[in-house]
Amino acid sequence: MSALKKYEFWFVVGSQDLYGEDVLKTVDQHSKIMVDEWNADPSIPCTLVFKPVMRNSDEIYKVITEANNAPRCAGIITWMHTFSPSKMWIRGFSVLQKPLLHINTQFNRDIPWESIDMDFMNLNQSAHGDREHGFILARMRIPQKVISGYWKDAGMRDRMAGWMRAAVGTFESRRLRVLRISDNMREVAVTDGDKVEAHIKFGWQVDHYGVGDIIRMVEAVTEKEIDAQMEQYAEVFDMATENLEAVRYQAREEVALRKFMEEEKFGAFHTNFQDLQQLRQLPGLAAQDLMRLGYGFAGEGDWKTAALCRIMKLMAADCTGGTAFMEDYTYNFDPECGMNMGAHMLEVCPSVAAERPKIKVVPLGIGDREDPARLTFKAKSGPAVLATIIDMGDRFRMIVNDVECQEQVHEMPNLPVAAVLWKPLPSLETSAEAWIYAGGAHHSVISYSLTAEELRDFAEIMDIEFIHIGRETEINELRKELTWNDLIWKLKK
Ligand code: MN
Repeated sequence: MSALKKYEFWFVVGSQDLYGEDVLKTVDQHSKIMVDEWNADPSIPCTLVFKPVMRNSDEIYKVITEANNAPRCAGIITWMHTFSPSKMWIRGFSVLQKPLLHINTQFNRDIPWESIDMDFMNLNQSAHGDREHGFILARMRIPQKVISGYWKDAGMRDRMAGWMRAAVGTFESRRLRVLRISDNMREVAVTDGDKVEAHIKFGWQVDHYGVGDIIRMVEAVTEKEIDAQMEQYAEVFDMATENLEAVRYQAREEVALRKFMEEEKFGAFHTNFQDLQQLRQLPGLAAQDLMRLGYGFAGEGDWKTAALCRIMKLMAADCTGGTAFMEDYTYNFDPECGMNMGAHMLEVCPSVAAERPKIKVVPLGIGDREDPARLTFKAKSGPAVLATIIDMGDRFRMIVNDVECQEQVHEMPNLPVAAVLWKPLPSLETSAEAWIYAGGAHHSVISYSLTAEELRDFAEIMDIEFIHIGRETEINELRKELTWNDLIWKLKK
């Protein structure tokens, strides 16, 4: 079963009393059939919940307030099978707190040319009703995602599924707790930001613990717990080092961090190599394995990227593509094959590995501690997105770049970390210029499972700025968009 089935989406179909009981019964039957088919389709990751047809303002108000308070409800999906006068929706929409998808579809795919009469027209008039519905959402400035298409069509279902992922991201964002171990790396700007504003906007509770607190927990881990952790490593990784003591120390760190995060309900964490105190190794393998288990992570005190990493992992929790903390590192400016190589000093998530990862122990140039154990591997090829969130001072901006991850044909025997190679769209140079003009961070989250549209939906529900760099990006048009956005977001304040 999909890991996202626990999230509910309420299917709320609008109509009115005017049509009589028979028509309303048919609308109910159709809606029930649609919900049942969607729920049986593995391409729909979450659970649709059928709600009886809405006929008046009281019913609409009631269902929306119930959805607001339903703990598993991650969003509402509306559809006007018939015509539902939109003044009926104003009272309910004025208290709406859940993300809204407005689908524009029709129970019958084709017009029955031979038999069509006015009864058929009155029953199948979403072309009409969804326009009335769209007006009131536009008029009330309620963010609506609109998807039009036949409800059985695979492409339409994929887009619905994508929006559900975005809504799941916002649902999880609003209850995310981020563990800060130490502060941001000294003097670095882009990884910092306004934590109070992030709490208000995204719902992130970002809490700091001193390294000393973590060290006490690391020291309290027992040999038996370390043995159990080592067995887990042996199940999924190959041991490519003789230095088992170093690996055992990472196991100790992982056990301590996982216990603490489980107890305190943290979903993401960061470290800072500048502040390790008596920690003997920077968490490398430990951070990588915690990411494999679904925790968000970022280095150097970057709490925003750690939070985004967690959210994107949860949006893609039922996918096998892989989602990882990433950092732009080195270019390949070969005109035949322009590529960006991403990695981090240690912490690349094994969910993006193309092969079984190896545990190695190699000195780390920075951090001034013992040689840390880490996983190395070649990453998968295929389409992916890179995403980052920056704090512009008066708003948050999400930047997303479409990329094509490349098969790693070179061995790179002297590189002791996992790396991902990608060709950014539209080209290495334009993508880099666009990302830099937009102020995008060197830290990001890469996902082989999510799309730019899903991240745009997330940004729109969260009411933050969204910048997309993809196949169609033209640098001067993008620069204009940045200039206009700056003015628009100042006005929106
Ligand atoms: Mn970094």
